[in-house]
Amino acid sequence: MTLPALRDRACPACGAKTGKDEVACPGDAGTMTVAQLRPYWHGLEKTKHFFPYRRCADCALLYNPVFFDDAQLADLYAAMPPNMDMLPFSAVADTQRGYFAAAARSGPLSGDYLEIGPDIGHLVTEAVAHGGFGRFWLFEPNRAVHDQLKQATGGKPASILTDMTDLSPVPDGSVGLAVLVHVLDHLLDPLTMLRTIGTKLKPGGTLLIVTHDEGSLLRRALGRRWPPFCLQHPLLYNPGTIRRLVARAGFPAIRVVPSTNYFPIDFLVRQGAQAAGFTLPGRLPLPRRAIALRLGNMLTIAQAAA
Ligand SMILES: [Zn+2]
Repeated sequence: MTLPALRDRACPACGAKTGKDEVACPGDAGTMTVAQLRPYWHGLEKTKHFFPYRRCADCALLYNPVFFDDAQLADLYAAMPPNMDMLPFSAVADTQRGYFAAAARSGPLSGDYLEIGPDIGHLVTEAVAHGGFGRFWLFEPNRAVHDQLKQATGGKPASILTDMTDLSPVPDGSVGLAVLVHVLDHLLDPLTMLRTIGTKLKPGGTLLIVTHDEGSLLRRALGRRWPPFCLQHPLLYNPGTIRRLVARAGFPAIRVVPSTNYFPIDFLVRQGAQAAGFTLPGRLPLPRRAIALRLGNMLTIAQAAA
């Protein structure tokens, strides 16, 4: 009978303990054991469970006061089934190419490159092709993708490491571009991570963050059925709360913009049908062409002090 270990957690951005519960799940995940929650963590169940989200009274961050601790998280992440990403490679690549273009418009593409959670290295491929980076520092806990990630570096000097929180091998002041795509909504302590990255950036270096936007139209339309409300997100941001968090970590210049995701039409139709409760025959002729959608994600681009 092991319950989620963190109870009545303070706001991870500002440390305040007061706030108002804003999003609740019909089942009370806080009273379920870790073993009971495991299938829902993997998202394999039709129904879902998540911990209640509280709006911090001081900084307005939306976060879970009840959550798994580091040891429970390590255990849950270690047992993840193989990547069940159903999106075709080309659509993911198009989406991530857009992320890289936004970073490229923001600052010089020199110095070292640092990415937390690069997966198979879509952005690394872009950085190798279009940047003039020295060493690639890649922190990826999933060893199964390390070979693909190595290939993405195209023979450039690269260090592929598995511990996502220990950035000590990276020399201070060496990094020109640091990237976190869908990482910051998973961290128990995002402030420490951002402060550490700040010390690794060289003067004027760029930080690129991709997260969900809990202030988006999609979230308002779907309410608690919005997919990012789930057991893997101990906190969720909107443009205001992420701006305050990044500023608190010491970054003087911050921009937040909506991001564009690319989805093939056939994928969208199938997902829509699934959401409505039926499955389409596999051979239904549907166009493969991708369309661009703004789906409640945002890009945060910050510059280290010059
Ligand atoms: Zn707060």
